[in-house]
Amino acid sequence: MSHLPVTGIWRQCPHCQRNVHQLEWGKLQICPHCGYYLRLTASQRIQQLSESFQSLPEITAAPPFAFPGYQAKLAQAQQQTGATEAFNAGVATLNGQSFMLGVMDSHFMMGTLNTIVGARLRQAISAAQTQRLPLVLVIASGGARMQEGILSLLQMNTVLAAFDDLNAAGNFTLNILTDPTMGGVSASFAFAADTVIAEAGATIGFAGKRVIQGTSREPLPPDFQSAASLYQQGQLDAVVKRTDLAAVVVQLLRLHQRK
Ligand SMILES: [Zn+2]
Repeated sequence: MSHLPVTGIWRQCPHCQRNVHQLEWGKLQICPHCGYYLRLTASQRIQQLSESFQSLPEITAAPPFAFPGYQAKLAQAQQQTGATEAFNAGVATLNGQSFMLGVMDSHFMMGTLNTIVGARLRQAISAAQTQRLPLVLVIASGGARMQEGILSLLQMNTVLAAFDDLNAAGNFTLNILTDPTMGGVSASFAFAADTVIAEAGATIGFAGKRVIQGTSREPLPPDFQSAASLYQQGQLDAVVKRTDLAAVVVQLLRLHQRK
């Protein structure tokens, strides 16, 4: 199989190493041979979880720091993804249910949390509250965006505060943790929803495995930071297969419908 190209319409599965045609990866990007999930882009995720999607007005701003090389990295991420930042939100409908859907994109600078992503998250949370809609967040993030320093860390508590207001207002909130959910995002709003589920196979944690291994000098279990082990330890409400995710979202929204 090694003679086949690994880019373009064929893509090698990182898990079973077989070359898979893009039609076989399908909309949900699942390897037909071993069941491995490729990471979805924000637009693929929106397609998976909505029948209609009306974006909120897009917040954009210049990055607050002239960190060396940051502008070029941002421009590159924008060119590669066609998105302006690592988070998108809008009013979605799925199977007759309306909700606020916010999606992080790990393809855009690893879905890192910066001032604009934070502002967009607060905008989505506040719009859900005003429009009395449930909030569904799909989380995929490497953590805080180091190029924005302390302002990036500040997003952790300001988003969390907005989240708390929404929870206090009684809106149903659902977080779906996908691969990867790490760092300052896992340490703030990732676990703040009424219901927190994970996509099967997701890595969820704070510091990376190698860092912890290096610091603790203790052997770590093979399933360390896996969705399955977090579920076993009671940190997640469910672990859901990608193929079942849309149906589970519909079911949860229906169960928590406001009268
Ligand atoms: Zn595979």
